[in-house]
Amino acid sequence: MNGITDAVTIVTGAGSGIGRAAAHRFAEEGARVVAADVDVEGGESTVDAIAEDGGEATFVETDVSEYDDVEAMVETAVDTYGGLDCAFNNAGIEGEDEPASEQPLENWDRVIDVNLKGVFHCLKAEIPAMLDNGGGAIVNTSSVAGVVGFPELSPYVASKHGVIGLTKTTAVEYSGEGVRVNAICPGVIDTPMVQRSADTGDGIDMAIAATPIGRLGQPPEIGDAVVWLCSEDASFVTGEAMVVDGGYTSQ
Ligand code: NAP
Repeated sequence: MNGITDAVTIVTGAGSGIGRAAAHRFAEEGARVVAADVDVEGGESTVDAIAEDGGEATFVETDVSEYDDVEAMVETAVDTYGGLDCAFNNAGIEGEDEPASEQPLENWDRVIDVNLKGVFHCLKAEIPAMLDNGGGAIVNTSSVAGVVGFPELSPYVASKHGVIGLTKTTAVEYSGEGVRVNAICPGVIDTPMVQRSADTGDGIDMAIAATPIGRLGQPPEIGDAVVWLCSEDASFVTGEAMVVDGGYTSQ
């Protein structure tokens, strides 16, 4: 894909699932990757695997709900590689399943802090670094839960709808200055998060039955879309919430 070779790229939540797959795809295309995660072991193993494949990556321990951590993450990219070109703001948590009236207040706060405020923190710290560098491209992870509702997931659904609003607003604010901002809305993807969420094998079977393509998505299928959105091949795409869901929301 055009424009990714040598691009300095931050990936949050790079220690597992979708973030790990995207970090690999960026590195395969020649990007220099700053892999950020709260999970040190997972993040370091992503960086090691990229290095084994001949790519370049640096791990930085980051809790995206803490603005100081996010500032340090962006500083690491600039100090290590000389600037910032791309970012995939992907770290997220599923939270607890309860109807809205029974949701623990602390679960609401934690899910919003990580999934929505975390993306805001990233945008706030990354955009100035990209403007200093002549522009850039950002992809934020929303979800099909950013497009439609899901029972018992009110904080998660609210956070993912919010990510699309943040994406559209920052796209309108900064696209004229060379920073494109898009969101990715995955359907049900086979990651540790989904394996955790499925209390029984039935949960996965129900997700497959609700997906017209008839299977779970695989993390590299999201990674491919993210790298494309960050590439010059997507030079006129901004403010878009791209659904990659095997047809889940087309019904
Ligand atoms: P995953 O396998 O659980 O990976 C998420 C990674 O983010 C983990 O390494 C996790 O560390 C890390 N993380 C959690 N909180 C963090 C924080 N505060 N700061 C930095 N890193 C943090 O999940 P995934 O399925 O790849 O999900 C990635 C993103 O895609 C999430 O935003 C999720 O909501 C979204 N998504 C997933 C699906 C799906 O079907 N899998 C569908 C739609 C959207 P710990 O493991 O230590 O918590």
